[in-house]
Amino acid sequence: MSQYWSNFVSDLDPYTPGEQPAINNLTKLNTNENPYPPSPAVMEAMRAAVNADLRLYPPPNADQLKQTVADYFRLTPTQVFVGNGSDEVLAHVFNGLFRQAQPILFPDISYSFYPVYCGLYAIEFEKVPLADDFSLDLDDYRRANGGIIFPNPNAPTGRLVGLAAIEELLKANRDSVVVVDEAYIDFAESGASAVSLIDQYDNLLVVQTLSKSRALAGLRIGYALGSAQLIEGLERIKNSFNSYPLGHVQLAAAVASFNDQEYFERMRQQVINSRDVLVEQLETLGFDVLPSAANFVFARHADHDGQLLTAALREKNIIIRHFNKPRIDQFLRISVGTAEQNQQLIEALTAIVNT
Ligand SMILES: *Cc1c(COP(=O)(O)O)cnc(C)c1O
Repeated sequence: MSQYWSNFVSDLDPYTPGEQPAINNLTKLNTNENPYPPSPAVMEAMRAAVNADLRLYPPPNADQLKQTVADYFRLTPTQVFVGNGSDEVLAHVFNGLFRQAQPILFPDISYSFYPVYCGLYAIEFEKVPLADDFSLDLDDYRRANGGIIFPNPNAPTGRLVGLAAIEELLKANRDSVVVVDEAYIDFAESGASAVSLIDQYDNLLVVQTLSKSRALAGLRIGYALGSAQLIEGLERIKNSFNSYPLGHVQLAAAVASFNDQEYFERMRQQVINSRDVLVEQLETLGFDVLPSAANFVFARHADHDGQLLTAALREKNIIIRHFNKPRIDQFLRISVGTAEQNQQLIEALTAIVNT
């Protein structure tokens, strides 16, 4: 608290990200980063972008990146918005599309940044409870609303909602914006993305990021895909806030990432394979693991407390994420690491669970 703060700032309840420890002898499985490095082509493109042109402002409309993303998804550049991480894109979504007369809807167990943005932009919201098995039933969202947002796969549960259910919701909810936050969609089966519905539903916005499947969390690049009218609304907010959210180096990296499909596909498949092995090993240790379509798993043990397990892993230099929140305080959220990191985790858990 400070006497200099406005009441507005004093009342904010900011997001707390997962820890980024300075010591590096830790096995870091707490923030769903990719365990593999970015594509060598991305590194090369970034090095090439470090030149005298850095004295110039970057292109304010990121035209080349928008064209690249549009081609990748078979859309037009007018259907693409880019920003400084999908967190920034989401902030503009809340500010520009969700400040409506009715409350917006999102799951009770979901990305904890959503209520933070509601606080920042004075948006009323209602949390819609997940089912007992932590599945998301979109029929529960058929009521008056100022907008709907949910991650798919959901975070931190990892569970996926099918495309047919999303389409039903879009049909039943023509008058407000439905945002599907697809931060982890590349780890789901192909064809799971709602991008294929964009041309039919003007009220659908899909948000994705280069932070997880493209191993570029450190660069901060995210984007939204949707009808030209939704994108124009976001551009109006962005151009009233910061004309240049992405610099030359970020833009070059992002374009190079989309152009190296082979590397992307290979790394994605490695993470998916490691996840499936990890799930089996956790189940063998007595964990109940929710079905995951993401690069993390959400698991609880019948005989061991979630918070105590998290602390015991920390003692062994392994960090995972634990949420001290109703309904999920027995769960561990574990990011899928390299085969070696996953093995360390399993060995540590075996020792903890068996003593
Ligand atoms: C990681 C994550 C984001 C944020 O991604 P950035 O692009 O790194 O800002 C958004 N939504 C969900 C559900 C996430 O897990």
